Formats: sequence, C-alpha cells, structure tokens
Amino acid sequence: MSISDKSERALSIDELLQRNVYDVDDEPHIIVDTEKCLKCRVKPCTLLCPAGCYTLSPDGEILFSYEGCVECGTCRSICPMDAITWNYPRSGRGIYYRFT
Ligand code: SF4
Ligand code: SF4
Repeated sequence: MSISDKSERALSIDELLQRNVYDVDDEPHIIVDTEKCLKCRVKPCTLLCPAGCYTLSPDGEILFSYEGCVECGTCRSICPMDAITWNYPRSGRGIYYRFT
C-alpha cells in the first residue's frame, strides 16, 4: 500500500517530505565529528539519510545540515565510526509529520 493524493497517484519521497512542517531548533540536535569522517571509506550516511542531510563537498569532505532531518535515527545506527552525537530537537521542536 502506498500513500497517495486525492487523485490516487502515489507520491514521491520528495513530495511526502514537502508535506511535513519543521520547527527548526537553532541549536543542532545532531553533531558530526567530521575528523572521524575523513577515515570513513564508504560514507553510508550520504547514501542512506532519507532527507539528504549528508552530502560530500567537491573535496570529498562531509557536509551536514540538520534542518531537514526527519529524526529517523538511521545515521546514528549505520555510522561505522561512532562519529555522530544524536539527540531529538529541544522542547518538541523539529519535524511535525502530516499524513493527510
Ligand atoms: S557514516 Fe559516520 S563517519 Fe562515515 S561519513 Fe557518515 S557521519 Fe562520517
Ligand atoms: S536522523 Fe535520519 S533524517 Fe536525520 S540526519 Fe540522521 S538519517 Fe538523516
């Protein structure tokens, strides 16, 4: 079963993410130790974060932005270098999921 709009068309991940509302905390809830990232060969966060929060610079360094995080916890689970300090945003901030 897939989530669809009123025309019963299946929505893409980007369309689903755009439906959500974010109350962005001005203090990052995820901290990445990018020194450890330099030794991470596969960099799975760039492949598996559903919100695209991890990208590579032209120099191959990890760039991270927490604002679009959907709080799934994937990066914390898959990081092989234990480089991520992960918390939920403060005071209930962060993503508000909208399912309709
Ligand atoms: S998986 Fe962890 S160590 Fe590897 S690049 Fe991503 S955050 Fe850095
Ligand atoms: S918790 Fe999920 S959405 Fe947020 S940065 Fe990690 S993988 Fe991306």
